[in-house]
Amino acid sequence: MIPEELEEEMLSHPGLGAVYRKLKEELAGADDTRSLEEIRVAYLGRKGAITSVLQGIKELPPEERRSTGRLANLLKQGLEEELASRLEGIRQRELEESLRRERLDISLPGRRVPYGTRHLLSSIIEEIEDIFIGLGYRVAEGPEVELDYYNFEALNTPDWHPSKSLQDTFYVEIPGSGRRDVLLRTHTSPVQIRVMESTPPPVYIIAPGKAYRHDVPDATHSPMFHQVEGLAVDEGISLGDLKGTLETFAKRMFGEDRKVRFRPHFFPFTEPSAEVDVSCNMCGGAGCRVCKGTGWLEILGAGMVDPNVFAYVGYDPEKWSGFAFGMGVERIALLKYGVPDIRFFFDNDLRLLRQY
Ligand SMILES: [Zn+2]
Repeated sequence: MIPEELEEEMLSHPGLGAVYRKLKEELAGADDTRSLEEIRVAYLGRKGAITSVLQGIKELPPEERRSTGRLANLLKQGLEEELASRLEGIRQRELEESLRRERLDISLPGRRVPYGTRHLLSSIIEEIEDIFIGLGYRVAEGPEVELDYYNFEALNTPDWHPSKSLQDTFYVEIPGSGRRDVLLRTHTSPVQIRVMESTPPPVYIIAPGKAYRHDVPDATHSPMFHQVEGLAVDEGISLGDLKGTLETFAKRMFGEDRKVRFRPHFFPFTEPSAEVDVSCNMCGGAGCRVCKGTGWLEILGAGMVDPNVFAYVGYDPEKWSGFAFGMGVERIALLKYGVPDIRFFFDNDLRLLRQY
């Protein structure tokens, strides 16, 4: 604080000696900004101890004035420098502490952000959509919780119809409503009715989405599954249009070399109806385990829209005709990618999903 050779003189000074001794003691115990500030005020403030000595110089005898003034100013300057350097030290220490607290260890490897993968069923639905959008269709959607009217009745499946019990479904209870006609849709066909109700013909739509049935899960059944249904209504639509459309779809989906065949079948909402097979890709049609020796794989059901269905939506069956088709997305995935069990799609095992 003051040059060493002046220490003795300072300590023996009648006015400053005691001040200096006390100051040194107090400085020794001061290690934070608050106690340093208290010292500054006590010694250098307006009524501070050093300030008082300086102010009293003019009342001293002339022979003491010079040495007292010199020592007091020296002490004042020394203390100012001491305080400044102590405060700087404290600030430095605080900065280092906060840097240590907030230090980022850049030597650690970054935390890996897990990236998602497209679900195979989503990819297949998109692939199917792309094919039909290319043929002039648009994608339509509807509710998964449906009314009996849209799921069965308007699709020509009244209560007494045997095919209604075949696809017994999950009914939804709405407490207090007394309603018994709310259910999880058993197919995406209700979307066809909803679109026809709200849109005049011509109509070209596909309806992808989830459907629900009262099935026990096994390798080929799941109580929740995905369908893509399609509907075309226009003037002069014939069975030939249906065949051409589905052949085009099957070849784009499964390969240009695949053959397609139509087998007569029954669906309540189409007449005539057919099941559509593609030739087996595993054996090329010769017969194998996958196609159960037939050389063919069933991929979808289709048919000409029953005129009764048009009556429900107010289309004139004399003027308009159309076809509808529906396929199970899981089944397409099983056939196209050889996934052996439908349950794999819903097990949430990324190892399966990342393969495709
Ligand atoms: Zn085969």
